Amino acid sequence: MTERYDLHCHSTASDGALSPTELVRRAHEHGVTSLALTDHDTVAGLGEAQIAASATGIKLIPAIELSTSWQNKCLHVVGLGIDPDYPPLTDAIRSLQNMRIERAEKIAEKLEKKRIPGALEAVKKAAGEGMITRTHFADFLLSQFHVSTQQEAFDRYLGAGKAAYVSTTWSDMAQAVNWITQSGGIAVLAHPLRYKLTASWMKRLLAAFKEAGGQGIEVVTGRYNSDEIRTVAGYATRFELAGSVGSDFHSPANQWVELGRLAPLPENIKPVWELLGPQPQSVNEALV
Ligand code: AMP
Ligand code: MN
Ligand code: MN
Ligand code: MN
Repeated sequence: MTERYDLHCHSTASDGALSPTELVRRAHEHGVTSLALTDHDTVAGLGEAQIAASATGIKLIPAIELSTSWQNKCLHVVGLGIDPDYPPLTDAIRSLQNMRIERAEKIAEKLEKKRIPGALEAVKKAAGEGMITRTHFADFLLSQFHVSTQQEAFDRYLGAGKAAYVSTTWSDMAQAVNWITQSGGIAVLAHPLRYKLTASWMKRLLAAFKEAGGQGIEVVTGRYNSDEIRTVAGYATRFELAGSVGSDFHSPANQWVELGRLAPLPENIKPVWELLGPQPQSVNEALV
């Protein structure tokens, strides 16, 4: 059987639409053989995902997508093959969770000033025990007919500099890379082209990421075209980073992105999964 990797996706533990079980089943249906669940700033979905993975025969890679700050920019760092119980990581997650709650309160206040009440209660309810994200606010604005698409919610209210934007200082990028590597994981820079950096800023970032101990970069994501893949593959080669592939799947409602539907990693790029040793203690073993 050919291996198919998808090393970036979200469940209801953060801003995904599917429960960890539903997500793993869907990945399996789409031919994925190794899946990394990378919820925003939480590992809460991993236990359930591991049970579903064992039942379907998928290999689950314990992972996370950490929100980090570097030079006043928000960057996402995926940690693959982490130990979800590593105490400094657990502490960091708790603090990120508090930051997200405080940010949500401020976003809701800003919306209220725009005569949009009730956001905080709605997003808390929608997120349940999971992390509150701007996606929850976007869905709330959609449900109340203040916008007609999720994109419009970001363009008018939630995006940087917009009416309900609250700037946040997340965990320091180098620190986040350190938590990941110290827990036995591989730090991967997520969707590098989404930050809209100039080539010189990108080089500065990759030098800093590498210096901090970062080992991988997402060369293939759900929406990159071949030019973009070539661009990031060039960065991977130049900075000697392994290449990752991840759809960043959030919801079946987005027809453009599907679990496992990814271009192949260019052949000259070292696959990040070659750096992932056998997990010393899988989530599964931790459960039994
Ligand atoms: P947060 O981490 O709470 O700031 O939320 C960020 C999440 O919002 C991302 O992970 C995406 O899922 C989503 N997001 C960010 N920008 C957009 C956008 N322009 N359109 C739709 N979703 C977005
Ligand atoms: Mn998201
Ligand atoms: Mn991201
Ligand atoms: Mn993501």
